[in-house]
Amino acid sequence: MRRACVTGWPVSHSRSPLIHGLWIKRYNIEGDYSARPVSPQEAVSFYGAFASSGYVGANVTVPHKEVACAAATTCCGAAERLGVANTLWLEDGRVVADNTDGIGFLASLDQAAPKWSEKTECALIVGAGGASRAVIDALVQRGVGRVELLNRTEARAREVAERFPGKVRAFGLDALSARLSSADLVINATSAGLAGAELLVPWERAKDSAIVTDLTYVPLQTPFLRGAASVGLTTVDGLGMLLHQAVPGFERWFGVRPVVDAELRDIVVADLIERDSCS
Ligand code: NAP
Repeated sequence: MRRACVTGWPVSHSRSPLIHGLWIKRYNIEGDYSARPVSPQEAVSFYGAFASSGYVGANVTVPHKEVACAAATTCCGAAERLGVANTLWLEDGRVVADNTDGIGFLASLDQAAPKWSEKTECALIVGAGGASRAVIDALVQRGVGRVELLNRTEARAREVAERFPGKVRAFGLDALSARLSSADLVINATSAGLAGAELLVPWERAKDSAIVTDLTYVPLQTPFLRGAASVGLTTVDGLGMLLHQAVPGFERWFGVRPVVDAELRDIVVADLIERDSCS
């Protein structure tokens, strides 16, 4: 039996066991995917000894993405470029790490708004944390010409922009109103919604053709997306990114490339609603 897991601290909120469990069943795989809490005290030794853990691979979530990347034998793709990993697998006894958040972000937009990249000369992203970096890297890899990064703490936006020389311009949040009118793609990569805070966005200043997406998927329709939709803009929620980032790991561990479809999405949406009503 091939076993994989999601690791982090905490991991009880993770939807990864639901997603991978559904695929294991759908493709009749003799495998198992579970949640494995890894405390901060245990992280260095757990990821350092991952090759002999009995797992064929793992997802890595907050706060261990950097530790897992540093402990891997090899980092490839976005993990190599960014120094943070969300997916581990074994190759000839060696631990390989990648970061599939950016792949998930692009695949989600490709599925929900297929012509977005042809239409995007300028992408505006609010938020300069870990998820933002993965998304910026993906946009740069896809060839988006201009990325404008706005953050509440402007210095942090500047630090992130420096990692992408000549590709990303940094601003404080006070520039939002002025920068919005030139953006073809508008991304919320802040965790403001999780803390119950709301970004105030003058949506009437956005281009009519702008596509708007939010990485936060609890709730699915965030105030950010609702605001954009209220002036008629096309919106894409954050759940697609979560579903699509899971694909490369599953394929590595279990040998089947799984499909992200309406059935999977509906089941995860039902789980989000059920857990939301319980909290
Ligand atoms: P993070 O590293 O903690 O960064 C949080 C960012 O949000 C920072 O830029 C922070 O600004 C900003 N922020 C927080 N509260 C704010 C407020 N009230 N007003 C304005 N800005 C605020 O978080 P992360 O890991 O990048 O995650 C960001 C979001 O993406 C989370 O909601 C997470 O759940 C989501 N996410 C989704 C997926 C997916 O698959 N859909 C994957 C990864 C993450 P400062 O720098 O000023 O503190």
